[in-house]
Amino acid sequence: MFSQFALHERLLKAVAELKFVEPTPVQLAAIPLALQGRDLRVTAQTGSGKTAAFVLPILNRLMGPAKVRVDIRVVILLPTRELAQQTLKEVERFSQFTFIKAGLITGGEDFKVQAAMLRKVPDILIGTPGRLLEQLNAGNLDLKKVEVLVLDEADRMLDMGFSEDVTRLSDECGQREQTLLFSATTGGAGLRDMIGKVLKDPEHLLINNVSQLAEGTRQQIVTADHNVHKEQILNWLLANETYQKAIVFTNTRAMADRIYGRLVAQEYKAFVLHGDKDQKDRKLAIDRLKQGGVKILVATDVAARGLDVDGLDLVVNFDMPRSGDDYVHRIGRTGRAGNEGLAISLICHGDWNLMSSIERYLKQTFERRVIKEVKGTYGGPKKVKASGKAVGVKKKKTDKDKKGDKKSVAKGPTKRKSVNRPKSDAPALVSQDGLAPLKRRKPAVSE
Ligand code: AMP
Repeated sequence: MFSQFALHERLLKAVAELKFVEPTPVQLAAIPLALQGRDLRVTAQTGSGKTAAFVLPILNRLMGPAKVRVDIRVVILLPTRELAQQTLKEVERFSQFTFIKAGLITGGEDFKVQAAMLRKVPDILIGTPGRLLEQLNAGNLDLKKVEVLVLDEADRMLDMGFSEDVTRLSDECGQREQTLLFSATTGGAGLRDMIGKVLKDPEHLLINNVSQLAEGTRQQIVTADHNVHKEQILNWLLANETYQKAIVFTNTRAMADRIYGRLVAQEYKAFVLHGDKDQKDRKLAIDRLKQGGVKILVATDVAARGLDVDGLDLVVNFDMPRSGDDYVHRIGRTGRAGNEGLAISLICHGDWNLMSSIERYLKQTFERRVIKEVKGTYGGPKKVKASGKAVGVKKKKTDKDKKGDKKSVAKGPTKRKSVNRPKSDAPALVSQDGLAPLKRRKPAVSE
């Protein structure tokens, strides 16, 4: 029951209006500590109800008689526009019986309109780091009196190259009394560094480690011979699975466009969402999906970040995500708030080792599924190591090869391919949308 929390009655009224009955585990753990003013580091997956876990205590702090607003009192930073928009909606839903005002600052929106909104000084400012910093640099933003700073999806903000921007914004909120940091994963050295910089004596709440990921979601793999075969499997799945709404993930924009084109040609109601799409397209895609006009969304990771769409019960990884964390984020789109979901990854020869390393990371074994109507020849590696990775077949060197070796030593490396071949089984890294080799790059706008 939410009434167990020391929340203002107007907030409890909003909670009741939203038909939230039982708090989720992250809410149970975080709300009381956040209400005490503690700094928190919360590891909780998307879909766990973490937004309410920080929004309710923040609103409680801001409750009081209506007065002229002079300072921004809370800043909530998120990695993407969509996530920022969704958080604004959540804040508005919970604050519907109060006088608290929230504002949104993200890339892709009119700078001057945003500046005008800032002049009215919202109590809560929600935004993506890049544009917030631009507004700060333009002199439109004063964060000196901020009391609470929230970094949501902090791991993802770091992945997207926002580390410096986040640190700068956090320094601007130098007088703050409380910092709440949320991430879907426990993160790496970058996150630890950020935690050390921004949090003071934080309580670490590890709500669900990745191995408990999306309990309501079945996770399967289907092997495929090549991309064209993957397309056939995808068609079969979309035609035969029972689902309300589906999302198909690709690693590249080009592949997202290609699949989208195929689906539309088959008269599926689909939409594509990736970093090349402008803000209007993105809003339209999300609205249509939410309203049910569109059943299938084809998307890259960055574009789909933080999507919260009811009834999204099928996730297809056309391409395997490049890391366990990306997998967690993708699968977090389904099985939300206790609903059932199905996640299917299409695995070619080249995807196998990545898939098995994600299984190890999650401490899970995905269900192997064979669809006899579209069965190909590849069914996984002939032999696997204890790690689950494929045992590589070493080519025996012929006399000819040996001669060739000598030649190349004498002349120096001539074939770039053999010089640059990755040593490990891991696939070559590509950028989020697969267009350039992966470098930590700073996006011009948050996607
Ligand atoms: P989040 O993890 O914050 O993105 O929340 C995922 C979804 O669960 C959102 O649609 C929330 O509105 C919903 N939700 C959050 N908390 C609860 C709750 N206690 N009961 C029912 N739904 C909830």
